[in-house]
Amino acid sequence: MNEQLKLLVELQEIDSSILSIAEKIEALPEKLEQFKNPFKEAGNSLQKLRAQFETVGKNKKAKELELEEMQDRIVKLKARNKDIKTNKEYEAHLKEIEGFEKSRFKIEDEVLSLMESLDASGKEMQKEELKLKKAEEEFKQQERVVEEEKKILHAEMETYKTKRKEFVSKIDADMYEQYMNLLKRLGGLAVVPTKNEICLGCNTNIPPQLYNDIKKNENIFTCYYCKRFLYYKEK
Ligand SMILES: [Zn+2]
Repeated sequence: MNEQLKLLVELQEIDSSILSIAEKIEALPEKLEQFKNPFKEAGNSLQKLRAQFETVGKNKKAKELELEEMQDRIVKLKARNKDIKTNKEYEAHLKEIEGFEKSRFKIEDEVLSLMESLDASGKEMQKEELKLKKAEEEFKQQERVVEEEKKILHAEMETYKTKRKEFVSKIDADMYEQYMNLLKRLGGLAVVPTKNEICLGCNTNIPPQLYNDIKKNENIFTCYYCKRFLYYKEK
């Protein structure tokens, strides 16, 4: 193969590798983001549960206060026993006490139900806390994995860049300039193989005579349509 053509082909391989590494590095934050979501979600639901727990706790306290007041009223009512003179008054008095007792039982039931709800909420919170911890650990683990991948990719990139310099120093300046223009303009692809009389860069047909010449790999030809450097890949 023509020496300059061979250098161009190899330079293209290096640049394609550099581009692919750059793409992988760019995709890393998104990879990490996938693990950030469960972590965030667990944090949010824990916050909600905490707020719920607080509300139920406040309601319980208020009900307990209500219960105390009701008990006080009953005690005071019972103390009025000695002021009662007639049977009729006594009956009415008993009925009043009974009414208050009924209310007290009702409040007691409410306090009990709030206690149960608080207990369930507490357990739910514990579960969510564990979930959050696990999600956080997974996220941190993934963060380390991604950081490690990043280091490896950067090291690979440096290796390719060093190798690239060696190639560039051997390529004719004009040819390199042409190569760089194509690379920037045509999505990182400046040197392409041909196959069955077709340019694999733009899929345009190559005239048979030109294709025969390209197949020899003795001279440098470019695609008349996309202007990329062409070569023939030997099997
Ligand atoms: Zn082409």
